[in-house]
Formats: sequence, structure tokens, C-alpha cells
Amino acid sequence: MISEHKTAEVSLEHLIRIFTVPEGPDSTLTEIEEKLSQNLNRFLREHIAAEEKPLIDIEKDFAKATIPESPEFVSQHTQHLLDKLVAHSVHTSSPSFVGHMTSALPYFLMPLSKIMIALNQNLVKIETSKAFTPLERQVLGMLHRLIYSQEDSFYARWMHSANHSLGAFCSGGTIANITALWVARNNALRAKNEFTGVEKEGLYKAMKYYGYEGLAILVSERGHYSLKKAADVLGIGQEGLVSVATDTNNRICPIALQEKIAQLKNNNIMPFAVVGVAGTTETGNIDPLDEVAKICLQEGCHFHVDAAWGGATLMSNNYRGLLKGIELADSVTIDAHKQLYIPMGAGMVLFKNPNAMKSIEHHAQYILRKGSKDLGSHTLEGSRSGMAMLVYAAMHIISRPGYELLIDQSIEKAQYFASMIENQPDFELISHPELCLLTYRYIPESVCNALLVASNERKAELNDHLNQLTMFIQKKQREAGKSFVSRTRLNPEKWNKLDTIVFRVVLANPLTNHEVLHLVLEEQRRIAQQAPRLMNSIEQLCNDILAS
Ligand SMILES: *Cc1c(COP(=O)(O)O)cnc(C)c1O
Repeated sequence: MISEHKTAEVSLEHLIRIFTVPEGPDSTLTEIEEKLSQNLNRFLREHIAAEEKPLIDIEKDFAKATIPESPEFVSQHTQHLLDKLVAHSVHTSSPSFVGHMTSALPYFLMPLSKIMIALNQNLVKIETSKAFTPLERQVLGMLHRLIYSQEDSFYARWMHSANHSLGAFCSGGTIANITALWVARNNALRAKNEFTGVEKEGLYKAMKYYGYEGLAILVSERGHYSLKKAADVLGIGQEGLVSVATDTNNRICPIALQEKIAQLKNNNIMPFAVVGVAGTTETGNIDPLDEVAKICLQEGCHFHVDAAWGGATLMSNNYRGLLKGIELADSVTIDAHKQLYIPMGAGMVLFKNPNAMKSIEHHAQYILRKGSKDLGSHTLEGSRSGMAMLVYAAMHIISRPGYELLIDQSIEKAQYFASMIENQPDFELISHPELCLLTYRYIPESVCNALLVASNERKAELNDHLNQLTMFIQKKQREAGKSFVSRTRLNPEKWNKLDTIVFRVVLANPLTNHEVLHLVLEEQRRIAQQAPRLMNSIEQLCNDILAS
């Protein structure tokens, strides 16, 4: 036992110990390690506090801006982390945490990630990664094939080619999207005659040379906010991200897309890329990718598909048809840290053409030499961990049919939940699940009748009240800590496109069962009764509507 007051000392001998000697078998760290690998869910249940501590109080635990002058013992510090950090973390792997795309992980990834961290390979260059480089190239090849289904000979020729690249591994969908649009921008403003390319001369000279007055990227109004960041860092400006109208199912309208492109071209603005969304973040809907591809081909735009979340659906032969047309994309983003059940920090962008990434190639003398197989010459990021190893392991251990089962059960569970909601007299399904994501809200029974006869003005008033109620329920439910759904704002046709706050549910966790879903609704119904003033004013409003 280490007494509270015993302090570690600063000495080279001690420092060398922390690099060489593992913690003893009775240490807090070893204990945590054992419990984690025995029963992760129990460990998290025991250590994550069920009741929410206000953020302002948590901030007090992290208030000091000084670097400690005296060292702590590892075990002592581990206990501190348990109390202050783990206790107030979010139980993302809980079966009733159904609000976000971050869910449970398979156990085997824990010991395997230790290997990854212990080896500490740096994928930026082959000198610090060796076998990890061909492994990462193979992972990119596997995902490329999942999308584009090329022949064996294609992969034999390009997968490990020093001067080519099937894509880039990165920290997530944001960087993947930026990379795709970076490639598209540089290809659109490529070297020609005396102009040496936007990557050399910059945007101002590129625009002057090509005679454009602006650049644009088009995406549906349901596009992810990372695309705005991309437009910003690529010098196109956030206003250069042009949003296109969607239909009632949150899918881009091809006619509206074509009109926007024509409009931009008339104004001498170059629409160099169109982004199709395969699994919108808010509703999980998929754009008509084949139709968008046709327009891009006609107009000479780069066609990027943001399948950060929905791309994993390609693993299922039963549902991959939902993404038909994705194989026509010039580039595709897939996040392994979403539906491929890999820990945070695993994104990928794949390019149909192995030459596409040449337009962003960078070389440096001491590393990234021309003709080397260094992955860093085609990535936005520099030093990078060996995360690809976890994707590689999961694809072998789970296998394609295993992922198919995971994807299928999640979609079918969402369909079950949708019909369950539709069968409740006091819940309203807002968006039907196309993948495993749906939105809905609580709506007291009295509202339904009033709705049918309400004037537009009254409808808006009623909707306002319901929005407040949805926010109240979502917040209370999160604070109670038993279950978690997220919320977002939509503009459903049924509600005259009024701003409508809805619950958003993502059913990726294989441990979430029907019972859990029943309990989520029951809890929400119960919480609604904790807002009597709001419920009363809703009822009053409904009575007024029905009386008039
Ligand atoms: C999650 C997501 C992103 C962003 O990915 P990060 O990994 O969070 O950077 C981009 N697009 C879509 C459609 C997403 O769902």
C-alpha cells in the first residue's frame, strides 16, 4: 500500500524505471487492466457515475494551469483518473446509449491496440513503420475493392506501387473529406502551359490563369459540417459550399443540382466538385448516387461520396444496393470508427483512379523521397499511428459476413423501432430509417386531433411548444444517465417545414435489444409528465384549436 503522503522523487533512476519496469501485480493500473479485459461493460458501469455532475463542477477538477513540480506514483495517479475522469466520462458502449454514431467495441481490440501503441510505428515513412506500410496499403486496397470491385490484376498492379495510391488513411471523416476535395481542387486547377498549378502558384494566380471568378463545391442541404471546414481551408470560402435542395426524404434533388451547376457556370464560378451523401448524419438517408454521378460526368465535376457513416453498409450483400452508384464516384470517404467498430481515429478516403492523388504529392529530402513507398507523401497529416492494424485485424476476425450480420441486424432493429414508434398513440416518427438511424418525437395524444384542423399560425405555435417539450425530455433523460438519445432540428413537410426538434437514434450497438428500446420510450413518456406547465399549455392550446 502506498500512503497518501508518500511522494515519488525526480531522479534519472526512477525515470528509467518507468520506461522499463511494469507496474506490480497489485497496482491499481494492473487491476484496471484485468477488469477491463474481463468485463468491460461491468467495469464501465461500476466506474462511470450514473448521475450527471454539472460541467461547471467538473471544470473545477481541471482548473490548474501549472505543470506539476513533483511527480506522482502511477497507481496513485491511476486512482485519480478513475475518480475524476473515468467517473465523469460517457458510457458510449452502453446498450442504451443510442444517440450517436460512437458505440461499443469488440474486446479483442483492447489487447491488440496495446501492441499498436507499444510498437509506436509512424506511418509517415517506411523507415519508422516497415511492415505497417504494406499492411495499411492492403487495408486501403480492401476498402477500395469493397467500393469499386476491380479485378485481382488491378490490385496486384497498384496496391503497393510506390508512385500510386488507392487512398489515404487518416484520423477521421473530416480529414478524409478535406483530402478528397484538396485532390479535386488541385486537379481542377492543374498545371497547363506556362501555369504551374494551384499547388505551386496559389489560388489567386490559378483563378487569374483559368479566368474564374470563384470556385464551388455542391452538396445537399443535409451535408456534414466538415465540408464547410474543407471549403474554408482550401481557400474556396464557406460561401463556396453551395447547398442543394433535398426531397421529402432528405435526398438531394438531381434537378435542383443541375440548375445550381448551370447557375454557377453562368456566373463564371467553377463548380469543381459535387459531394453525394451516403448516410446523412442527421437522418441516415442516401442520395441517389447514380443520378448524381451522371450529372458530374456531364459537367466535368469531381464526384465525391461522403460515406463516412453509411459506407460500412457495403459489407452487407443484402443492403449494399442502397448505395448503388457509389462505384461511379471519383473518391469516397469511409470512417472505420463508426460502423466498422474501430476505436476513434480511423478514417479513410479512397480514390477510384490510382493516379488521382498525384496532384497533392509532397516530397522532402530527409523523408518522403520521390519513388519511396512513404505514405506521408500522399497524406494531409504527417506523423500517424498504426491504426490501420486494427481495421486489418477486425476485417479478419469479424470477416465480411460477420460485418454483414452486424449491419443487417442494426437496420432491422431500426425498422422494428420505427414500427414500434408508429404504434404508439403519443409518439410521432419523423424520419423513416433507411439505414440504422431514425428520428421521432413525443407528441401528446390530444395534439394529433388538434393538428388536423389547426390554422398555420396555430400549428406553428403548437410546434413551438412541442419543441420545448422535446428539448426538456432529451436533456432530462441524458441527465438521469440511464439512456441517451441525441436531438437535432429538421424541417418536415408534414409540419409545413417548420423548425422541428426531434430525437435522433442510431442503432449500431449489437447489444441494444428490443427491451432497451421499449424502456427508452417509457422513460420519455414519464419524463414528459415532469413538465406539467408545458403539458398543460399544450393541452390548452389543443382545446382552443378544437373549440374554434
Ligand atoms: C461523421 C461524419 C463525418 C466526419 O467524420 P469525423 O470522423 O467526425 O471527422 C463526415 N461526414 C459524415 C456524413 C459523417 O457522418
